[in-house]
Amino acid sequence: MLYNILNSALSLIIVDRCMVCNEVLKAEMHGICLKCRLKMPKTNFCFKEHNPVKEFFDPLARVNQCSAFFLLKTDNDWHHVIHEFKYRGKRLYAQRLGAMYGADLKSSGLYDDIDYVVPIPLHWRKRLKRGYNQSTYLAEGIAKELGAKVDHRTVYRKKNNPSQTLQEATDRWENVDNIFALRNAKQFANKHILLVDDVLTTGATICSCISSIHRVTPNCRISVATLAIARDISLKY
Ligand SMILES: [Zn+2]
Repeated sequence: MLYNILNSALSLIIVDRCMVCNEVLKAEMHGICLKCRLKMPKTNFCFKEHNPVKEFFDPLARVNQCSAFFLLKTDNDWHHVIHEFKYRGKRLYAQRLGAMYGADLKSSGLYDDIDYVVPIPLHWRKRLKRGYNQSTYLAEGIAKELGAKVDHRTVYRKKNNPSQTLQEATDRWENVDNIFALRNAKQFANKHILLVDDVLTTGATICSCISSIHRVTPNCRISVATLAIARDISLKY
């Protein structure tokens, strides 16, 4: 945690670089230069009710709207962005990216009745080690644009599952089974919540969270917004 605090403080006085291309930023660009912003591999899925992310989740969970902001591919450098705010303390940039995403979600009109924006929680041990949950900062940026509240207390992670980056994709579903619980289920009764995570890979963690919420509040409507998508999804839409 101390490392992250020092890192954040140092980043204010040390020259700022673009998180995507590593070029020195000449003005306050919130971590991403103009050239990279213009070339951002946005999916625009949030503007369509039927899109590849919705199609992906539909057979797996009861979901309302689903989207991912941009594509992560081996031939683009946007994975650096995720790394910077996940492991290098650039949490305020996560908030700024959340706001950029939130502006699109707002203008799509499909997310207007969201009551709570809910970041997928980290286990408290992992949060303590990292110093923060990056998805909370994404959620804050999104919620501000949507005029909704952030709820990072109702859902919590009761099991500290191993880091998914070390696991084979086939193992991940077993790792995340029944790892979430709710403190105050009434909070979500008859509400529409937007679950927020940084990257959609197997979808196992998000599905596990949806299932835990629906188990205790079946009338809660759940939508999903991930910042990035790492799956090889066809862009036929
Ligand atoms: Zn750049």
